[in-house]
Amino acid sequence: MTHVAVVGAGVAGLGVAYALRDEASVTLFEKSGRVGGRAATRERTDCVYDTGANYVKSDDDRVSRVIRELSNGLVDVEKPVWTFDADENISEGRDENAAKWTYRSGIGTLGEKLLDASGATIRTDTRVVGIRKDDGWYVEDGDGNEYGSCDELVLTPPAPLTASLLEFAEWDDDETARELRRHVGHVPYRTILSVALHYPFEIDRSYYALVNTDKEHEIGWLARESCKPGHIPDGESLLIVQMAPNWSAEHYDREDSEIVAAAADRVADLLSDHSLSAPNWFDVVRWRDALPDSGADPGVLRRAEDENLRFAGDWVSGDGRVHRALGNGLDVGERISKLRT
Ligand SMILES: Cc1cc2nc3c(=O)[nH]c(=O)nc-3n(C[C@H](O)[C@H](O)[C@H](O)COP(=O)(O)OP(=O)(O)OC[C@H]3O[C@@H](n4cnc5c(N)ncnc54)[C@H](O)[C@@H]3O)c2cc1C
Repeated sequence: MTHVAVVGAGVAGLGVAYALRDEASVTLFEKSGRVGGRAATRERTDCVYDTGANYVKSDDDRVSRVIRELSNGLVDVEKPVWTFDADENISEGRDENAAKWTYRSGIGTLGEKLLDASGATIRTDTRVVGIRKDDGWYVEDGDGNEYGSCDELVLTPPAPLTASLLEFAEWDDDETARELRRHVGHVPYRTILSVALHYPFEIDRSYYALVNTDKEHEIGWLARESCKPGHIPDGESLLIVQMAPNWSAEHYDREDSEIVAAAADRVADLLSDHSLSAPNWFDVVRWRDALPDSGADPGVLRRAEDENLRFAGDWVSGDGRVHRALGNGLDVGERISKLRT
């Protein structure tokens, strides 16, 4: 049986494993303690909230089919997304009719379901720090353990992290390695601070979320988690506030309390409700490499395929969206399957 090592268990890595279920022996190496990557959920008291991707909206039939196969607990966020501008004028519109999916237990459930359905082996809390090619591919973790040999290696961390893995790669073809490193290291990313603000009262509005369309506001996105079935108990509210990329980069290293105070003040102004400047609890998630601004050149990445080295992720598909990352992972898995089985 073909042995495939996948670095990173976000939806792209899990998509590779899902496409190869029953056809290859797949091991996923994940630096954190959970799967799903930026499709991430946290829980506190009785609240469930999505701290990275807020929902999946798929225009790719194959991805929609996979999600429907994993539909137990899937919910649609029915209320629309409205817009606002730098002057805090709120307007209807922008929302198309497509479903906005998450799970009752949060979008992180998508990763767990993909893993279960794939039957792959997962090593969580395992940060890969080196890759080496000999009779096959080997990966090394931070404690000096080496795993291998694998017939195929797929790298799925965000491009800057993949570039640093390539930096320490050991394999014969130095020129390809250098070119890949240079190219992958140049994919630009936006940084986002995601802030959860909890209130012991309901906030009733006609929309689920607001998006800043002129990119001139310090808030980029504001969403009411209570619009997601099963997420927030009655009588409470939780707002997810994604600060704009420039603001997020500038305030990235500030204390949580400072970030929250600024975010809550902006929210109170935007929604014209000054009780919102004092949440009764909060949470801050820092996404340094939140969203790729463009994709890598597929032609350059393809040069590594002769070495049985492949790449998957939103930065490979060129669009920072869950369904694009998952679709790209499925593509890579299907390509390996075609070549190897
Ligand atoms: C704040 C925010 C809001 C978003 N909103 C939406 C949205 O509403 N809708 C939408 O469709 N998309 C949204 N996105 C984008 C979406 O989350 C991503 O495009 C998608 O989840 C990317 O999946 P991926 O598998 O390519 O990468 P990731 O999810 O980043 O997965 C990569 C994995 O690799 C692991 N890893 C990294 N380095 C190593 C290493 N050295 N060793 C082992 N493991 C490693 C990471 O821990 C991670 O689990 C949002 C993203 C953010 C951050």
